[in-house]
Amino acid sequence: MIGRYVEIGDRIVVLENEYDANLTCISSEEGLIFVDTGRRDNLALKFRKDMEQKFNKETSHLLITHYHFDHYGAMAVFNDVEIIAAQSGYKDFSLALQTYLTKEKRREDVNEWKEEYRKNNIEPDAGRLLHWEYYPRNEIFLPTKQVKDELILGNDSEKIVFKVVGGHSKCTAHVYIPFEAVVHVSDNLATDSNGNDGVFLGHSMFFYRPGISSKTIDILEQISSSPIETTIPGHGPVINKEQTTRITKYLRDFNIIIRSSINEGLSLDELINDSRFTTFYDTKPDYWSTIIQRQYNLISEEIQIKK
Ligand SMILES: [Zn+2]
Repeated sequence: MIGRYVEIGDRIVVLENEYDANLTCISSEEGLIFVDTGRRDNLALKFRKDMEQKFNKETSHLLITHYHFDHYGAMAVFNDVEIIAAQSGYKDFSLALQTYLTKEKRREDVNEWKEEYRKNNIEPDAGRLLHWEYYPRNEIFLPTKQVKDELILGNDSEKIVFKVVGGHSKCTAHVYIPFEAVVHVSDNLATDSNGNDGVFLGHSMFFYRPGISSKTIDILEQISSSPIETTIPGHGPVINKEQTTRITKYLRDFNIIIRSSINEGLSLDELINDSRFTTFYDTKPDYWSTIIQRQYNLISEEIQIKK
């Protein structure tokens, strides 16, 4: 089983997508609005067909929450509809499509990554294998529409708001669905049903991911104190208000320790082995030192900027 359909109210279905970004379908008056595609084009196509049949509607839009491959990788499945993403990041993406995201370059990169793993005798995990399978072969292209701040779809009583908020990346957008009290927060949050208090710290940490910024935590705090009842994360299970609040507090407390340690002059090594962190995991993940390292760098930068 690679995905699970989760219904929120009568008109939203989330495909909780293992090792990949979640896919969401919102049934609106105008048609079906999808949010993110994941990387598996075959699965995205199945989800689209299933939803068109379930709601007996055509697809009208695809919203891409940010320009990371795990979120737009299967966009070709939606090449016949309006595709919307943030204006911020559009230029970079456009340039990337002509440079490091050409099919040829992607193919080369994957071969290099595989070679590196082989040389170092590292067994790739399921997420990595998934990326290597789809990254070199999917068709990718520019969205048809860019949004500067926000775009409202649907009529007043049933509006859906695509809002560029930043946090995870400058091009990160949230999708608000007020009539169901739901928000899609993209990669400002990745959840995990097993352990670590419901947070998956790992996702924000791999590849070029920067870590979890103070801005991201501020954004999540705003959501906790708003009328929103249900949060759809970029990755992992859909959560309710109580879980959103608890996770936000966890992340805030986590960053407070790192910030105060940096201010006290603790080194990165001292921080990685700091016993205060044992309250932050049920089972210590093997990528724990990477997590602390990224957070350490990110918060050091935040402190520098403030000075
Ligand atoms: Zn992601």
